Amino acid sequence: MTQQALIAGGGIGGLAAALAGARAGWDVRLYERAPAFSEVGAGIQLGPNVVKVLHGWGLADALADVAAFPDRLEVRSAVTGKTLGVLRLGDVMAQRYGAPYATVHRADLHGLLLAAARQAGVIFKLNHGLDGFSQNADAVGVQSGDDPPVEADVLVGADGLWSPVRQWLLGDGPPRATGHIAHRALLPQADLPETLRSSQVTAWLGPKLHVVQYPVCGGKSLNVVGIVEGNTEGDLDNWDQGTDGAGLHAALAGSCAPLQDLVRAVPAWRIWALCDRPPMQGAYQHALGRVALLGDAAHPMRPYLAQGAGMAIEDAAELGRVLAQALDPALDVPTMLNRYALNRWQRNARVQARAIRNGEIFHADGLMRVGRDASLKLLGERLLDVPWLYGGP
Ligand SMILES: Cc1cc2nc3c(=O)[nH]c(=O)nc-3n(C[C@H](O)[C@H](O)[C@H](O)COP(=O)(O)OP(=O)(O)OC[C@H]3O[C@@H](n4cnc5c(N)ncnc54)[C@H](O)[C@@H]3O)c2cc1C
Repeated sequence: MTQQALIAGGGIGGLAAALAGARAGWDVRLYERAPAFSEVGAGIQLGPNVVKVLHGWGLADALADVAAFPDRLEVRSAVTGKTLGVLRLGDVMAQRYGAPYATVHRADLHGLLLAAARQAGVIFKLNHGLDGFSQNADAVGVQSGDDPPVEADVLVGADGLWSPVRQWLLGDGPPRATGHIAHRALLPQADLPETLRSSQVTAWLGPKLHVVQYPVCGGKSLNVVGIVEGNTEGDLDNWDQGTDGAGLHAALAGSCAPLQDLVRAVPAWRIWALCDRPPMQGAYQHALGRVALLGDAAHPMRPYLAQGAGMAIEDAAELGRVLAQALDPALDVPTMLNRYALNRWQRNARVQARAIRNGEIFHADGLMRVGRDASLKLLGERLLDVPWLYGGP
């Protein structure tokens, strides 16, 4: 009989896991709490490590239809506007790592994973939040609303930053507030003056803040993210709000004219209080028995390496590999999930740690900022490239 996998959560991680599981020959049912799939109107950067996984799933054309493939990442001072360093992307990255660097609208990435998962036979249960699970040596059972309980061989918690599955499995409390606030906006490039349009990734670094911009939707829109340090009191789970960006404008008061022009061109922002968890400490945080955690449920991270969704997609690829092996009756499911956990947790921990460190470097002031700028001038691309990351998984 075909093995059964249940996935909790239909974000980018859950859809990638569902696709990988179905392609591995499993029957997959995905439970999503929300009544309809939706992704926030914002962009996402995908390193060559992630694009490689998507290409491996046969999604190269679907990605090429919706993504942009910027030629360079330029790091600039938010204060003076000067270029501090450049990382060549485009063909250089493709040759170095076997896949290009891509930037994409989140809804486009979500949509292409959804279409592929649907085609692979995944069953979707919308408006079905999981209310709990129990597991024994033979099976895992889940409860969702008034539905009769359902049993399966595996449960994957891909239910995000506030993951209920993680709490039932590990009981280690909520994620922590970082004290950083993200402002996000999408602008049609056609509506922008020529000087503000862009086909590259630009990161503006300033004291206690940074702003990143890059093209999405094949270059038709410009994604802008501004992150400032500030007060993030209140209900963090419910922080997604609309704003005129007054906090960001105030923080950028001393910044250079081109950056101020960009930020002033944004009519409305959505803001998030950023949360994370400390880097993973062991394989037990990725899987126990017949339950695996994936994506933000397992390793929520600061967005300063632009790899949160990327690591969820890498997790899914590894999960697919072990699920394919678990079809062999000689290999039991908990052992295979443990193999998934062992193969993933250290890389995820390293990315989480590097993201924290990047935030400190991006937001540096005083002597640290002088040292950062001098190092970028001296080492440039060697400092901005991350071979252990982009060369993976
Ligand atoms: C400002 C910012 C910029 C970022 N930029 C990048 C970037 O450039 N590149 C990158 O790779 N990453 C980036 N990230 C990180 C990335 O957005 C996340 O890591 C990724 O979206 C996590 O996906 P996920 O599927 O694990 O979780 P989510 O997207 O949170 O999905 C979880 C899903 O589970 C559902 N759910 C919750 N509870 C239940 C339940 N009980 N039962 C059923 N369903 C449930 C939710 O409704 C939701 O649909 C960024 C993040 C931020 C905040």
